[in-house]
Amino acid sequence: MIVRVLGSGAGGGVPQWNCACANCEAARAGRAPRRTQSSLALSADGARWLLLNCSPDIAVQIEAFPALHPPAPRGTPITGMLLTDANIDHIGGLAVLRQRGGNRGFVVRSSATIREIATTQPAFAAFAAFPHRWIDVPLGKPIPSNDDDDFVGNALAVTAIAVPGTTPGYAGRRPVPAAVVAYEIADRHTHESLLFAPVFGSINDALAAAIARASVAFLDGSFYSDDELIETHLLAKQARALGHQPVGGIGGTLSNLRGTRTRIVFTHLNNSNPMLDAASEAYAHLREFGAELAYDGMELTL
Ligand SMILES: [Zn+2]
Ligand SMILES: [Zn+2]
Repeated sequence: MIVRVLGSGAGGGVPQWNCACANCEAARAGRAPRRTQSSLALSADGARWLLLNCSPDIAVQIEAFPALHPPAPRGTPITGMLLTDANIDHIGGLAVLRQRGGNRGFVVRSSATIREIATTQPAFAAFAAFPHRWIDVPLGKPIPSNDDDDFVGNALAVTAIAVPGTTPGYAGRRPVPAAVVAYEIADRHTHESLLFAPVFGSINDALAAAIARASVAFLDGSFYSDDELIETHLLAKQARALGHQPVGGIGGTLSNLRGTRTRIVFTHLNNSNPMLDAASEAYAHLREFGAELAYDGMELTL
């Protein structure tokens, strides 16, 4: 399978339009990479593509990646989406893709909880009706194939795993089961596998086991420390209160993953995160561990 990072930033991206923090200013000045909002594109054959989350930056992300350009006067190689949660930075791109006409729509997949929350919003409810299909995925076992044309279930074995997390702010930020999921995607031909877990409040047993099994794991890199939003005077909230386990510190993701042999790539990077500065101690700690930061345009073949 081919994996392309369409975006590696958390909500708002880097730079964020209303932020003049050091990381946003460095990106504006060209001293650090710009990051659109987090999403991956994935393909088993290079012709049909699946989006893992669909960010409000999707139109720009499509233009930046020729494999996603229309193959005909009107058309798209994107067949569908797998959604990890109902946050606007992960589903807002659906509203951007609403112009798709004809009688063959997108196949959107998520947990039932995520579908129920997202479709309370009219812009997204349209994707649960013809010509689209919004399919609830089973948890903890492979998603069955939808039809012969669908590479989820055929070329790729995809399993959704419920991870600790909350509903989005617009739905009350409540800790509801399966409000957040991760996806484990194995290529049936190469037997390599990808884990996509851009949001989690902590690492439960199922997520820890999935990280250990994966060839490559894209993990929640939103925040390095629990207090960084407060220390940088950006927001009076801790990372954990926003549903994200920080990367560093006691109980952070790096300390949880000591000894792992899986290639770890942090994505969904918030602009407050000190890891974004290559001269920081946080970045040095990440590299010492052997982990990496995702970047827009990063490509892997698994
Ligand atoms: Zn997000
Ligand atoms: Zn900023």
